[in-house]
Amino acid sequence: MMPQPRTLKISEIFFSIQGEGLRQGEPTIFIRFAGCNLKCSFCDTKFAWQGGRPYTAAQVVEKVRRLRDRFPARWVCLTGGEPLLQNLRQLVRLLKKEKLKIQVETNAIYYKPLPFDWITVSPKPRAYAFAPEYRKLATEVKLVVTRDLRFKTIKRLRQAFPAKTPLLLQPQSNLRWSRKLALKLLNESLAAGLENIRLSLQVHKILGLR
Ligand code: SF4
Repeated sequence: MMPQPRTLKISEIFFSIQGEGLRQGEPTIFIRFAGCNLKCSFCDTKFAWQGGRPYTAAQVVEKVRRLRDRFPARWVCLTGGEPLLQNLRQLVRLLKKEKLKIQVETNAIYYKPLPFDWITVSPKPRAYAFAPEYRKLATEVKLVVTRDLRFKTIKRLRQAFPAKTPLLLQPQSNLRWSRKLALKLLNESLAAGLENIRLSLQVHKILGLR
């Protein structure tokens, strides 16, 4: 019997505008992986914790190609859930062959040496842990402004990454209390002389996109 090709568990594949972080506003095809090693209470993609449809890497690329015919995009974003729980090697190779740029959004507990073009590192409470490789490799660090986020955590993370790596404070689901807290924490960070800290609103939610 022929060996079955390995499959990936995918929650959804769709075209939208990247709403978060420094790639904000760019047309992007999102590949959302099912499953996560964390269970954050504030997670806005809880539907992706379970389930997912099996796809081979080739089937994912076929779907991406079809979307791209309708919505030309230069970027794909591997998101979740936690994409790095799955074996992405073949998919990344095929997406590169399609001349797509690849962003990965990760909670940063796991590191895999894959040729991503953009690595969004988003450590999560309470530990805000991350694999040490990301100190050098993160393109941006994104922190969700939860009720428990404190200045000392921002300071610790700011010191853990080079100053050239932007650190983004992202209000939780654009909620009013979180926007206020984000501004307070930004002011505190500026007053303390922390460099390269920015606000990041979730523009896709403001625009009513996915
Ligand atoms: S790490 Fe991200 S996807 Fe996983 S539970 Fe937390 S917010 Fe949700």
